[in-house]
Amino acid sequence: MTIEPRPRVLTGDRPTGPLHLGHYFGSLQNRVRLQAEGAELFVVIPDYQVLTDRDVADRLAEYVEELLLDYLAVGIDAERAVIFTHSSVPALNQLLLPFLSLISTAELQRNPTVKDEIAHSRQSQVSGLMLTYPVHQAADILFCKAALVPVGQDQLPHLEVARTIARRFNARYPGGASPLFPEPQALLSALPMLLGTDGGKMSKSRGNAIALGANEDETARLLRGAKTDTERRITFDPLHRPEVASLLQLAALCQIRAPQEVAEDIGDGGASALKELVTEVVNEHLRPIRRRRAELTGDRGHLREVLARGNARANEVAQATLAEVTAAMGMRY
Ligand code: ATP
Ligand code: MG
Repeated sequence: MTIEPRPRVLTGDRPTGPLHLGHYFGSLQNRVRLQAEGAELFVVIPDYQVLTDRDVADRLAEYVEELLLDYLAVGIDAERAVIFTHSSVPALNQLLLPFLSLISTAELQRNPTVKDEIAHSRQSQVSGLMLTYPVHQAADILFCKAALVPVGQDQLPHLEVARTIARRFNARYPGGASPLFPEPQALLSALPMLLGTDGGKMSKSRGNAIALGANEDETARLLRGAKTDTERRITFDPLHRPEVASLLQLAALCQIRAPQEVAEDIGDGGASALKELVTEVVNEHLRPIRRRRAELTGDRGHLREVLARGNARANEVAQATLAEVTAAMGMRY
């Protein structure tokens, strides 16, 4: 009898601040569900990649801890998940070199997510690290031969780069019985891009986010200040009223019903009624998560243990893949 290996799922978040509602509905819920269905979950915390859009990565230790708290609070199983920091797995950076040879600078320059990140970057010039961002990410995904990557919409162009690199590596270095790298699939959620309070993509580092760990008053204050429009009648129209639509989707996901229904219930109540409802249902939905997060906050030792175990396992897997890669390339000395 052959035992089917558990499908691998890889995903991650930069340590640039605490996770927010966009992460939760865009990717975290899918991670928890896939893990419950038996997948082996890898979560990378790409610390070097903080430097893609800024000169210095500050408060790294604090932000890594925040991420660990968020992961465990939303229900990622610390016993089974492999949570690791990029800098603790040196083999990832060795994979980067052959991968860089498989993609052209023109392909990287026209990547729409790289363009958007550059537009919001705190650096005056585009660094090589920024331009090659999708290639580091390809190494982070391919090292564990992930089949599925639960991400938000902004990551689709990056995932396309990872798929291209997998395909080109397999074609350029055939040899083994089966291709070395599977092509990873993106998994989008029902809310692949939640908008922030300024109407742009909700992002940890753009000052427009509602953190999972925020308290209820803070959540209410941030939502009251969210950009909407002045029309009294609330309708679900993502194309013409994206901010209102994003809030309706948020409420709908918390209440597990359709956004159109939420809009009908609010009717002529205008943006203030919409914001009140969203505040109420978001706070209610997050209450148990926030409670668990607060309980875990005191246990730094546990968080450190989870990370140490994840780092050790990620290193084993990365070393094994690197050995296959160098062998396929003829580096057998
Ligand atoms: P930063 O501002 O530092 O880039 P971020 O909020 O964009 O932070 P990332 O660490 O870049 O978060 O992204 C982690 C994951 O969360 C990715 O899969 C990304 O697609 C997803 N994600 C981020 N923001 C949103 C959002 N607003 N809606 C849905 N998914 C999101
Ligand atoms: Mg981002």
